[in-house]
Formats: sequence, structure tokens, C-alpha cells
Amino acid sequence: MSLNIASIRGLFPVLHQEVHGRPLIYFDNAATTQKPQSVLDSLTNYYEHDNSNIHRGAHALADRATRYYENTRETVQKFIQAKESAEIIFTKGTTESINLVAQTFGRKFIGKGDEILISTLEHHSNIVPWQMLCEEKEAILKVIPITDSGEVIWEEFEKLLSPKTKMVSIVHASNALGTINPVKKIIDAAHEVGAKVLLDGAQSTSHLEVNVQDLDCDFLAFSAHKLYGPTGLGILYGKREVLEEMPPFLGGGEMIKEVTFEKTTYNDIPFKFEAGTPNIADVIAFKTSLDFIQSLKKSRIKAHEDELLAYANELMLPIKGFIPVGTAEEKVSVLSFNIQGMHPFDVGQMLDARGIAVRTGHHCTQPLMKRLGLEGTVRASFAVYNTKSEIESLAEGVERIARLKNK
Ligand code: PMP
Repeated sequence: MSLNIASIRGLFPVLHQEVHGRPLIYFDNAATTQKPQSVLDSLTNYYEHDNSNIHRGAHALADRATRYYENTRETVQKFIQAKESAEIIFTKGTTESINLVAQTFGRKFIGKGDEILISTLEHHSNIVPWQMLCEEKEAILKVIPITDSGEVIWEEFEKLLSPKTKMVSIVHASNALGTINPVKKIIDAAHEVGAKVLLDGAQSTSHLEVNVQDLDCDFLAFSAHKLYGPTGLGILYGKREVLEEMPPFLGGGEMIKEVTFEKTTYNDIPFKFEAGTPNIADVIAFKTSLDFIQSLKKSRIKAHEDELLAYANELMLPIKGFIPVGTAEEKVSVLSFNIQGMHPFDVGQMLDARGIAVRTGHHCTQPLMKRLGLEGTVRASFAVYNTKSEIESLAEGVERIARLKNK
């Protein structure tokens, strides 16, 4: 059965507004998704009824808040099919999750002359933390090249992989182009040389079924706000045996077993990596986002988004002056493009005037843009609440803008 998009739209209050006198068309979902009313209610409900610090209170509210917080951990565990909930760590976002791995696993296990592999497609948050580590440790960052259509070149990856490779940190689905990387194959090949693999799942987890046990990745990083959940909350999944070997990230309350002035012993996972009072309200509300996704089923969400992407391509490819960017075979619902002779920012402004929200620029992937010889792109990214009629409005807007320059 296909999804009832009209009723899904009814769950998102923010969608029902006008921008510059036109109905809002929100196509900036790869940056952040909108939140259903149930998530907003969950946040308010927590502050109205349960607000309390967790894991240490001897009273009913603290008990409840702790239970709800840990419930979300279990829901995330099931969402990505992890073996146990202790393998789920709450962070501030994908960025913090990757930094955590670079600063703990990296500092302990990566040394002088060791190699870290990333791809040309990476978001800055999967580049800079590794550069910082390489600088400190005299390790070497190597980059897997891509084709002009935005796919990693397998033979080049194989050439770069060696026993010196200690970490392969790669994006599962590109935020700038939508390319889905063949991560299962990458993980298997990396494990053969003894490297660990971190998947940047910021864009994949909202569109694809991600089963960390099947994939056998060592780490998965993602952000709640791209999954119809609150901002300021991220997840790091790690295999128990790897997490246990890693030193803590931040020091403070909660992450300890016992503190004396002479020596501190650390808590078990996941608490070893969750120092201080966490983002309790957002963690609790995130369960509601995951319930929302599960109630729709990811396969149906993906099917709807694929249909939107195919329709967008069908309408826009024939437009004179429309230049698609990133034409990989396997993609999530990201349409990156330029209009001949126009700066992406100007295109974005003109679409905004029509009530259409897109992103323009380098999408935090400056090296990728450089590889493609572009200053930036216009990016329309689709979510479950988007409709074919919104795609038609986008195509109409793009056509008009392109006609100005490409008569
Ligand atoms: N990686 C990718 C592929 C992303 O799309 C993003 C967000 N744009 C990030 C990492 C960083 O996520 P956050 O800003 O939520 O930490």
C-alpha cells in the first residue's frame, strides 16, 4: 500500500505557511527535516511532566526520565539492528560522533605513518577531524577518487587499501549529490586488511534500511535532526569490543565508576562516552521520530522519494540550461544542479521568492566541488511529505529562471 501523503503533511505544522506570499515548498531536507507534531508534543510533555536529571535521582520524575531516555536507546538499537543498546552512544550530532572516534580510537590506535582513507564525496565533518588527527599523529590521509558522475572508483580504492590502512571513514549517502556508496563491499575489503570502518550515515539513515550487523561496520554516525527529530542530538554506534578498547572522550560526571584525586576508573559503555547531563528532552523526543518513521516503513518512504526524484529528473532534464550534478546510478532523493550562466546563490534566491526552499553553495563539501570544477550547486532534497505537485512547481520555477539566461 502506498503512503497517504496528504495525511502525512497534516502531521507537520511548519509546512502549512506562506513564504513571500506563496505556499511553502520545503526542499531543504538534506540540511534538516521538519518535525511532526508528535515530536513537538513529546518535547513539551517532557518539560511539563517529567523534567529531571537522569541516572542518579531517587525520585519518581528522575526514574521516569531515565526510563524514557533509555527507551530511546533501545529504539535506536532496533532502528539500526545493533546487537545491544550499550552500543548506542548519544552525542550532539554526526559531527561530534566522528570527532569522538577520531579523538579516542584515533589517538589510541592510529600512529605515525598509518593511513586513513576517506572519499572525495565527504562532508567537511568527515574530513577535518581526520586531518586534525593526522597532524597530531603524523598519520596520512588518503582520498578515494570519484568519477565525473560522483561515484567512487573501486579500482582506485583497492589500490589505496593496504595493511597501513587503519581506518576507512566514508559517507554512506552523499549530502551534496545523493550518491549511495557500495558500503558493504567497502567494509568487507577494508576488514581484509585489518582496517576499521566508520560510516557517515547522516544522509543514509533517513532513506535506507541500515542494518549495522549485516553491514558489519565498526562505527555508524548520524544525526536525529535529519530523521524528523530534534536538533542537537546525534548517535554514534560502535561495536562493543571496539568501544570497550577506546579511551573516554570527555571527562566529568556520569562517565566514571569511581573518582579519587589519585585515579579515576571509568564507567561501562555507553556511559563512558556520555559525560555530563545529556540532551535528555531531545533524546526522549527522538523516540517519537523513530516511531513515526517505523509506522510508515522505510521501504515505502524510499519508494515515494525515488518517485519524486525520477519525476524531478523527467521534468527538469529537458529544460534548456539545466545542468544536473551527480548522476550516479544509486542515489537518495537529492537533486543537485546548476543553471547555465547563473550563480547557484541567485537561483536559490529566485526560487525562495517563489516559496521554494532549497540549499545553494558547496554543501560543506568544498573538495568535492573543486573536483567537479564547480563553485557550488543548487540542491533540492526530498522527504516523505513532499509531493509531485511541489516538484512541478520547482520545475516551473527552474524553467522560468533558466529561460531568463538561456533564450
Ligand atoms: N555528514 C553528512 C553527509 C551530512 O549531510 C551532514 C549534515 N549536513 C553531516 C555529516 C554533519 O551533520 P551534523 O551537522 O548534524 O553534525
